[in-house]
This record gives sequence, structure tokens and C-alpha cells, in this order.
Amino acid sequence: MTELKNLFQPIKVGKLELKNRIVFLAVMTGYGDDDMVTERLKTFYAERARGGAALLTTGIIMPSSLGRPMPGMTGIYHDRFIPGLRQLTDVVHAQGAKIAAQIGLQYYRAKEEGAPTEEVAPSAVATRRGPPPRALTSEEIHQMVDEFSEGARRARDAGFDAIEFHCGIGYMINRFLSPCTNKRTDEYGGSLENRMRFLLEIIESSKRKAGADYPLICRISGDEFMEGGHTLEDSKKLASILEKAGVHCLSIQAGWHECPRPLVHMSVPRGAFVYMAEEIKRVVDVPVVAAYRINDPILAEEILTQGKADLIGMARPLIADPELPNKAREGRFDDIRPCIACGHCLDSAIEGNPTACAVNARAGREAEYTIEPAKRSKKVFVIGGGPAGMEAAAVAAKRGHEVTLFEKMDRLGGNLLLASVPSYKWEVSNLTKYLETQLRKSGAKVKLGEEVSAKSIEEGKPEAVIVATGATPIIPDLPGVAGKNIVSALEVLTGEKDVGQRVIVVGGGMVGCETADFLAEKGKEVTILEMLERVGADIGRTTRWVVLRRLRKAGIRMETKMNVVEITDKGVRASREGAAEFFEGDSVVLAVGLKPNKELTQKLEGKVAALYSIGDCVEVQRIAQAIEGGFRIAREI
Ligand SMILES: Cc1cc2nc3c(=O)[nH]c(=O)nc-3n(C[C@H](O)[C@H](O)[C@H](O)COP(=O)(O)OP(=O)(O)OC[C@H]3O[C@@H](n4cnc5c(N)ncnc54)[C@H](O)[C@@H]3O)c2cc1C
Repeated sequence: MTELKNLFQPIKVGKLELKNRIVFLAVMTGYGDDDMVTERLKTFYAERARGGAALLTTGIIMPSSLGRPMPGMTGIYHDRFIPGLRQLTDVVHAQGAKIAAQIGLQYYRAKEEGAPTEEVAPSAVATRRGPPPRALTSEEIHQMVDEFSEGARRARDAGFDAIEFHCGIGYMINRFLSPCTNKRTDEYGGSLENRMRFLLEIIESSKRKAGADYPLICRISGDEFMEGGHTLEDSKKLASILEKAGVHCLSIQAGWHECPRPLVHMSVPRGAFVYMAEEIKRVVDVPVVAAYRINDPILAEEILTQGKADLIGMARPLIADPELPNKAREGRFDDIRPCIACGHCLDSAIEGNPTACAVNARAGREAEYTIEPAKRSKKVFVIGGGPAGMEAAAVAAKRGHEVTLFEKMDRLGGNLLLASVPSYKWEVSNLTKYLETQLRKSGAKVKLGEEVSAKSIEEGKPEAVIVATGATPIIPDLPGVAGKNIVSALEVLTGEKDVGQRVIVVGGGMVGCETADFLAEKGKEVTILEMLERVGADIGRTTRWVVLRRLRKAGIRMETKMNVVEITDKGVRASREGAAEFFEGDSVVLAVGLKPNKELTQKLEGKVAALYSIGDCVEVQRIAQAIEGGFRIAREI
């Protein structure tokens, strides 16, 4: 067993004692209501506290009523919030963890209560976010200093063990710190000392109100990756000044939201930005938190052993599996539900929806989605060994049902096996491995290479059948579609079929884009023909731009609004807004979508005691819906 000696060493952050080195970083959950703490929020944090992390950080809490919070945030701008926040700190403490309140302001502010908010910044400088924001007045700056420090006082009164000021990723404080957004000519702009004045006044005022020794963390961007912004060298200077100002811990972020560089996408190597924490650690004595793409406790241990950081920050990995710390301590690495960095949680937050996790159906639904023993053990058949079927079978078996899963292929995984083929999507294979391991451990019987029919199912006399047969590629009705030069994207990804040097991919959705990327990596010349106005229109917002960036870098030609009319042995004829064009190619890859395999369900209707369908065979969606459907149905049976 790999021993994680350093990860489970206690450490002090100021006067605060932490039992290990794992910090649950701030995430926007969207579980608040009317700026108040809810039962859902408390349960979410209680579960992560029970899972063994030493310090949990709340998602950003608003210290001002003048900001424009996202739906579901929480506030700390009035004493009336203290009792609710106290309940949150109580549930975390009851599970043996500590909790810090992350206080921060984002981009917006109203001039007065009830007035409309507008984007504000120290200076009216346009960024990639859009037109120039309104420059803040000195009076507003003083008001914000007061709001932050009142927030710190209320956090202390609500029982938080520490506060964390959000000073990174281009939010309000960061906009003051950075020369790329702060062009003020008064005492809040110009030199580093002046640009830091806003934050230093917040710190000084907070210490006065909440106590000089009240543990204080600052979360800063190690390198802003913004033109004219702070480099790592600048951040080192800033870190030293913050230490002198009495900050007890520095938590290191990378970049800004609007920086033109992937930071958290699955193509970013694990631990890619630890070097920033390492460099900052060289110039300060206070503990430093490293984060970003650290989803593996063994990597976390290595970072600590090599002295690159003092604490390990995890956000998405603890959404995926709140019990990661306890499982890691017990050496149960196979049981850790892996975060695959798919961005589903970030996409939900950005769309203003409550956070959900693609791999963990329980995230944010902990109270409702419990796994209880079945009242009576039933004979359950699960048809299909993709993510939906594997999750359903494992959960049903854990509940005490007698489960058999049938998979027609000789391997489990379904389309997850294809989803992990492009080189940058290797993390997906960890999910397949995890689901398979849990299925085997659950006691469910697994029958590979068995394509079951409605008849064979009926003969088996199951008391419940869960159909999870997935989807098959759509073959468009086009002249020439049966040609020898035509293959489906799935055949390319499985390696069943080869393609020539010049490839035309018909369909530029997620599957088409990924297949094009895969082929370009093999040195093929690839053109994507997409009917819609946008390539990758079905890819989540936090991921799409990274995928497109990869395609552009690989030299893939992308043509939109293309209506394919014919395929010949020389290529593809298409028309755009009435104008015909011919695209020459040696092979044509079809990626025009999948259709649900509904046949088995239809044939079984009325023939078995209880029938359920889950995943892509109901509606072609994603891993998130497949796993959620599997979990939900398995707990109902
Ligand atoms: C190329 C590709 C990339 C993708 N990438 C992503 C991604 O990055 N993120 C994401 O969220 N989603 C992605 N998806 C979608 C995701 O893979 C699917 O939504 C998910 O796999 C659906 O799970 P499922 O269990 O419902 O079906 P499937 O994964 O399709 O599994 C169905 C299983 O049923 C078996 N089966 C069918 N009929 C029978 C029968 N009669 N008897 C026994 N077995 C049978 C099949 O062999 C298959 O193994 C991708 C899909 C593809 C095709």
C-alpha cells in the first residue's frame, strides 16, 4: 500500500490546527437561496467534512448587497446572515473538519441599494470580457473596504475558523492588484504598493474588527496569464508583502477567467501549475496551497514530499468523491470516484444552475440520494455495460438485489471506451476502470459477450429489468452514403476502420470534433463540415473554446453552415446558402449524431414485471445523465 505520510500530517495555519493537508477549495454551488444558507448547502458541506478533508472553504460569499450575485450564492453583508452561517459551521465542526469563509466580490456593483448593477473596476479599461467597465469612485472603494472587513467580523461571529479573501482570477480585488486593469492615478493605482492598497486596507480593517490573529488566507493568481498582468515574479513580491501584512496562508490560483489559456480542462496535465506554489513558497514562510488538476492523492503526496507546497487544494475531485481523503488514508485508491475534469460542474455553475457532477449523481443531492438496503431482494437484469448500466447494477447490488448485468461486447464501458480515445481525454478511462471495479466489488454477476433479446430476458424471469443499451450512429440518407470510402466516427475511434490521408468529417458536434482531433494527431489532413453556424455547439461553455483551440492549432479546416448533398468516391458535395462546393478527400467520416436504441425496451413492454430504461437508450445525452439515471433507478427498485 502506498503510504501517504505527508498528506496526513497536521499543520498550523496561523493559530488554526488542521488535521491533514487537504483543503476543499471554494466552489460556486448555487445551493444558497435568497443569499441564505440552505439545508442542501449544509448537507453538501457536512458530507465533505465527513469525507476527511481538513479545511473546507465556502464558495464565494458576498460582503455587499450592491453586487450582482449569481443565483444561489450566499451573503454576509448583514448580521441577519450570521445564524444561518453558524448552522453551516456547526455541521462541519460536528464532522471534525474546519471551515473558512471565502469572501469576495466579482465584477458588478450598483451605485446604491435598488439601483441597477453595472460592471465596475478600478479603471475603465476594456478586457476580453467586453466594453470598459465603470471606474469606481474613492468613496465606493472605502465602502468596499468596510464591507469586506464587516464580512470578516461576521464570519468570525458565525464560527468560521478562518477567512479567505478572493484576490485572484480577475475578480474585484485582483483588478486592483493587476497593472492590466488598474490604471488609476490616485493612491489606489500606479506602483505595486498603491495597487495593493485596497487589499491591504481590507486586511488591516479586518484584523481590527475580527482580531489580528484571526486566521486569514489570501487566494491569489500566481501568474495572471494576461497581457500586461502580473507574472509569477510580480506575484512573489505581492506574496511577501501579504505575509508582512499578517496573512497566514496563501492559496495559489492560475490565470484569470478571461485569460486565453486552458487552466482546468482535462487536456491540462495533472499538477501543471504546482510550480507557481513552489516558487511562491520560496519567498514566504506561511503555508502555501497548491491546486489545479490535482485529483490524485499520490500526486498530492509527491508535491508535499518534494516540498513544493504545504497544503493541497482540491475542488472538483471532492465534488466527485467527498470521501477521497478517507479512502486515500485507508489505501482504498480503487474506491475513489475519479474526477475526470470534464467541466460539467463548471458549466452548471456558469449557466446559473446548481452544481452537478457528471460522475457523482449524489453531489448536491446528498440528503435525497442515499443508498438504503432494499426492502426485499429482487432478481434484477441490467442490459448494457456502459456507464448507465454499470452504475445501476452496482448500486442495485449494493442495496441487496440479486443483479446480473449482460453486455454484448467482450468489455465493459460502452461509449466511455470511445470517449477516452482522443489522447487528451485519457482521464475518462479512469472512470471506466472505477465503474468496472465497483461493479465487480458489488457482487453483481457480469456476463460479457451476451447480446440478450427480449425473449431470452423473459425466459430468465427477472423481477425487474433495467435497459441501458445506449445508442447507435445515425446514417444520413444521402446519395453515395454506402460508398467504400465512408466510415462512422465510432468505427474510426474503435480502430475498426482505417482512413486515407485526406479526411472529411461530416458533422462538427462533440464526436466529430474529437474524431477530427484524433485523426489530426495521426497526421491526417482533416476538414470538418458542420451544418450549424458553430462547430462544437453541443460542447459545454468551459470546454468548447479549448476544443476549438486544439482544432485550430492542429490546422483542421472548419466549414460551417454546410449542407452535405452528396458523397462520391472523390469527396463531399455540399452547399452553403445556395452556393455549391466540393471538398476533395480520400475518406469521409460520418459524425452526424446517434439515435437511442429503443427496440429492446419496446419489445419488453408489458412482458416483464418491472421495466426501466436509462442513459442514451432513452435520449442521447452524456455521462452525467447516464450515471444519474443509473443511480436513481437503482435506488428506486
Ligand atoms: C465518441 C464519443 C465521445 C463521448 N465523449 C463524452 C464526453 O467527453 N463526456 C460525456 O459526458 N459524454 C461523452 N459521450 C457520451 C457518453 O459516452 C454517453 O452518453 C454514455 O456512454 C451513455 O451511456 P449508456 O450506458 O447509456 O450507453 P453506452 O455507453 O452506449 O452503453 C451501452 C452498452 O449496451 C450494450 N448493449 C447494447 N445492446 C445490448 C444487448 N442487446 N445486450 C447486451 N448489451 C447490449 C452496448 O454494447 C454498450 O456497451 C461520448 C460519446 C461518444 C460516442
